[in-house]
Amino acid sequence: MAKKQFKAESKRLLEMMINSIYTQREIFLRELISNASDAIDKIYYKALTDDKLVFNKDSYYIKIAADKDSRTLTITDTGIGMSKEELENNLGIIAKSGSFAFKKDNEAKDGHNIIGQFGVGFYSAFMVADVVTVISKALGSDEAYKWESQGADGYTIVPSDNDEVGTTVILKIKNNTEDENYDEFLEEYRLRSIIKKYSDFIRYPIKMDVMSQ
Ligand code: ADP
Ligand code: MG
Repeated sequence: MAKKQFKAESKRLLEMMINSIYTQREIFLRELISNASDAIDKIYYKALTDDKLVFNKDSYYIKIAADKDSRTLTITDTGIGMSKEELENNLGIIAKSGSFAFKKDNEAKDGHNIIGQFGVGFYSAFMVADVVTVISKALGSDEAYKWESQGADGYTIVPSDNDEVGTTVILKIKNNTEDENYDEFLEEYRLRSIIKKYSDFIRYPIKMDVMSQ
């Protein structure tokens, strides 16, 4: 399948994220957890007005799973999910609050301290991952889709499997280089401390599942 191109401004932000020498890379997890929490909020509010939809508190959670063998970090939520069009529109272009605020305010600055203060959004995943895969099934849809990108050269969307409504974001954590070590983002204690630091207020359970060799 041919790769679709990101819009110009999205491409610029992506390039900044990919080449980031920013020390607070850890905030990518805050961004992904906040998106997961927003998605659960959406299904929660829908249930308030839709009799056919029952919000069972136990069924709504965020799960973080690290696998050192495959170097993947997976963030799963049981939120409202995204349709094919939503994957395209929400992840393919920057139109939304967080990412947009960042771009606007950093036009002329190098943005090092500012990243931590603003929501930088989904693309911050590219600070720690060289491949980002999003598998999602929207509420009310029978079909799931897989969005995948290796960065600024574009993304693909193909049909996929996902039994449950919700979204799974899979980060292929970058390999270590001489100067940079990314292994910490696969370590349970480190992930727990990042979650405690930035996502303590999230009102849905955050479950953790760490596999090691
Ligand atoms: P923001 O959260 O400020 O809108 P992001 O870049 O973090 O910006 O996310 C862009 C959009 O992608 C979100 O507004 C949402 O529509 C969609 N999105 C991202 N992650 C998820 C998710 N886990 N479940 C459902 N939708 C999501
Ligand atoms: Mg967000």
